[in-house]
Amino acid sequence: MIELLPDREKQVLRKRAEAPVAEIACNKASAAGSVSQRACVFCGSRVVLYPVADALHVVHGPIGCAAYTWDIRGSLSSGPQLYRHSFSTDLQEMDVIYGGEKKLEAALLELIAHHRPKAAFIYSTCIVGLIGDDVSAVCRRVSEKTGIPVLGVHSEGFKGTKKDGYKAACEALSKLVGTGDTRDIGPYAINILGEFNLAGEAWIIRDYYRRMGLDVVATLTGDARIEDIRRAHGAKLNLVQCSGSMTNLAKMMERDYGIPYKRVSYFGIEDVSAALYEAAKFFPQDPGILERTQDLVRQEVAAIHPQLQHFKRKLVGKRAAIYVGGSFKAFSLIRILRLLGMETSVVGSQTGDADDYRQLQEICDPGTIIVDDSNPLELAKFCLEKDVDLFIGGVKERPIAYKLGIGFCDHNHERKEPLAGFVGMVNFAKEVYASVASPVWQFAPRRARRANISTPLPPA
Ligand code: SF4
Repeated sequence: MIELLPDREKQVLRKRAEAPVAEIACNKASAAGSVSQRACVFCGSRVVLYPVADALHVVHGPIGCAAYTWDIRGSLSSGPQLYRHSFSTDLQEMDVIYGGEKKLEAALLELIAHHRPKAAFIYSTCIVGLIGDDVSAVCRRVSEKTGIPVLGVHSEGFKGTKKDGYKAACEALSKLVGTGDTRDIGPYAINILGEFNLAGEAWIIRDYYRRMGLDVVATLTGDARIEDIRRAHGAKLNLVQCSGSMTNLAKMMERDYGIPYKRVSYFGIEDVSAALYEAAKFFPQDPGILERTQDLVRQEVAAIHPQLQHFKRKLVGKRAAIYVGGSFKAFSLIRILRLLGMETSVVGSQTGDADDYRQLQEICDPGTIIVDDSNPLELAKFCLEKDVDLFIGGVKERPIAYKLGIGFCDHNHERKEPLAGFVGMVNFAKEVYASVASPVWQFAPRRARRANISTPLPPA
């Protein structure tokens, strides 16, 4: 029997049929004792900035903060591999007592001389905020000595939630945007924001835009290059996918350079088509763009439709739980599951806001549990109550699913198969089917008991 903590009750609701949209408590610090699935501010910054492939990334703090390396938070590069190194100043007791500025400066000068990066991002961690190192002053000095942008990322872990880390990352990026030469950028140019090229998705999406006749100036930050980010203000439109992480930068670019932005998603047939049409309609002066987009969507949908129908026949009636970082992805996932004949029984996010939860209620079926900033126990409780067949989440949700004997689909930074675009829709259906229909789940103790299958006892 798993109960909700009293402090958490207002962050959970069940969609009722015919009832008006209800308010859910969100956008606040995690309740003490609830063991939130959220990561810290520093982690939020790191997730956003790390894919910048030709930059130096230095974690100023104790070595433990640097544990999230490229190996567990993948992102692909078509060229430089510098971003895959995990550099840290490895602050020790004496640095905490006397300050870590000298160590940071020495480390930066050595690393920049050795690796010749195009820029450097310096991440402040909790202890740096506590001892009061002036990271901005060090960055300024090193930038003057080396001639490259050295950007402090004010991401002290205790400063808020992961969302504050996204903001700190956007502030660092905004210092680069506007510093490059835009003279050779054509009239039909866009930026892709909030796409991190985890499994090659940025390449798929860029190719769609190329086929439509649009130029992509910069992808922020999947497979990104510093020079492209510096020229990003030459684009006419920003398309923002992971809105939680990148809307701040889009707003800054709208304010400073007059570039409008649109929120899009590249997950699922409906949403990726809508994203491409959104971009095409923004450039009515060239009707050829819209025509090419229509052709592209028609061809891609025709190519994947038979496979999707095949998986739908196998998956119809199955139930799913979704727990993601930002809730915008959850909208797409609910639509994709519906297309596959599946039902979403539980849906939640780490950082959704009131608007996101209102929209979620509108698109969910009655009875769906909607939850903000959940924890492993609650998620397990909801999965059991709804008897779901599939859990869609990230690395922290995977063990919850497996322990309960539930299929799992990684839709986060650890995935290795592209799930965006039309091809991603097929990959997703294939992965969901492979996991949900796996014969292994019949031996999970919970299901084995129900099916009266004896499972071997662990050794004494
Ligand atoms: S919470 Fe602080 S100490 Fe922990 S990983 Fe984040 S920055 Fe480092």
